[in-house]
Parts: sequence; C-alpha cells; structure tokens
Amino acid sequence: MILFKSASEVADYLQKQQSASNSVGFVPTMGALHEGHISLIGQSKKENSLTATSIFVNPTQFNNPEDFKKYPITIEKDIDALERSGCDILFMPGVEEIYPPGLNKPNYDLGYLETVLEGKYRPGHFQGVCQVVDRLLQIIHPNRLYLGQKDYQQCMVIKKLTEIKNFKTDLVICPTLRETDGLAMSSRNMRLNAEERKQAVSIYDTLILVKNGLVKGSLKELQSKAHDHLSAAGFKIDYIEIADASNLSLLETWDGKTSVVVLIAAYLNDIRLIDNMVIS
Ligand code: AMP
Repeated sequence: MILFKSASEVADYLQKQQSASNSVGFVPTMGALHEGHISLIGQSKKENSLTATSIFVNPTQFNNPEDFKKYPITIEKDIDALERSGCDILFMPGVEEIYPPGLNKPNYDLGYLETVLEGKYRPGHFQGVCQVVDRLLQIIHPNRLYLGQKDYQQCMVIKKLTEIKNFKTDLVICPTLRETDGLAMSSRNMRLNAEERKQAVSIYDTLILVKNGLVKGSLKELQSKAHDHLSAAGFKIDYIEIADASNLSLLETWDGKTSVVVLIAAYLNDIRLIDNMVIS
C-alpha cells in the first residue's frame, strides 16, 4: 500500500494509473476502521484495478465540537487493517491539504434533504460532508465511490452532490455490517462502555420491532411503541421516523406498497448512534 499525504501527489499518481486504463475505486473514511469499512474496500477491490481509501476526520461536518474532540483515532491499527485488506492507496491528508488557506468553502443547495432527520438535528453537517467529499472527488477522480447504507441520508446527499457538480463517478451503496447481536458497526461504538454496549443493541431491536409491526394505515401507534421501547432501554431519542425509501419524505400512514426506510438517531449518554433498515 502506498501512503500519500499530499493532495497533488496522490492526484498525479492516480491520473497516471487511469491514463493506463486502471480503474480506481474510492472509499472515504474518518478512520477508526472496523469491518464495515473493510467490506467497502472488499467490494471496491472486486470492481476496480486499484482501491484508494482516505482517512480524514473532517472538522467541518461536526456540528458538536465535543463530538469532534472525542472522535476515536487509531491510525496504526487502521494502517494494519488496510494492509491486510489489500487496499492499494491510503490518502491521509492534513487539514491544509483539504482546506488550503484562501479556499472558499462552497454552499450546496441540498433542498429538502437538509431539512429533515440528520439535516434537522445536525445543522451544517451535510454542508461539511459535501465540502469534504467534493474536495476528495476532485483530488481522487475515482471511477466508483463506495458508501455505506449505514449512513442512508448521507448516501442521498452525496448522490445529490454528484448531480450538482456533474461528477462522472458511479456511486456504489454497500450493505450495513452488524455485530452478531445486530448492532451496526460504527467507529463511535468504541466509545461505549460495557453497560452501554449491552444497551446499544436496542436500536437494532427497535428497527426489527418496526419492521415486524408495519401494517397498512396509520403509523402513529407503531412509532409510539418504538419510542417507548428505545426510551426504556435508556436512550434519549432524536428521531425514529418511517420514510419513503426513495426520497426520505416522512410518512404518517403507509399504503402497504411503498418501500420504506426506518431511521433512528439516539443518544446513550453523550454518544450519538444512528441506524436504519429498508423494508421493501
Ligand atoms: P465513516 O468513517 O464513519 O465516515 O464511514 C466511512 C464509510 O463507511 C461511510 O460510507 C459509511 O457509511 C461506511 N460505514 C460505516 N459503518 C458501516 C457499516 N457498519 N457497514 C458498512 N459501511 C459502513
């Protein structure tokens, strides 16, 4: 694996590879890698000549400075895991490579997507996500970009970004990897203590409760059951919503046909976890 810290050097290297008809798959991450991240790399390796991963904890997407300060950093373990995964290129820029002095951070018109769910509860978050992904795509120019369904709304936002910017990159959305008890793998899980780790599985249980309880008609009672279940497990809930899977419009009734996605964001003490499940 080749490690690059300079944006211009990684860009030059990949441009030469692409000129030689080598396709590039790209997996952007914030590090503290787990098997979920590695599964994206595995998918990219199947579909491209070269796989590049980035590790950059992007300050502009943290609406809560404490969350940024506490974000886990495990660089040495990450490099080991990347070597073992067969990743070809690691891009690990400093802040000044991504946001050079004098660079105007753009504002993106994300419309409705920025007004609901994560957009509503984490103001500015998706602008920060777009800033970093926009910059990374301009540096890496990948043929394919690998994203996790774990961040369902983020996938939609990045799709919108690629449309706004007319990027030629194909998006590949990969399934959420879970621990054996169902908890979605997440870098933030590293911050859970033993007690919290046991409680955390209730997010998954709540998704299953909604999946099993979904019937045509009003969703009010089911949503209230889901709230009660997750609150009883010690979570402070930001939202539990059932939305149209194609556009994230929030549903109060279900027609029995539309594919829906159940989305949850909730705190265990000061650790915020998110998860979702698509029901087709
Ligand atoms: P992050 O490092 O949290 O920014 O995540 C980097 C990428 O990995 C994003 O596209 C995430 O959606 C994806 N990802 C995070 N957790 C998982 C998981 N449990 N399974 C699959 N992909 C994941």
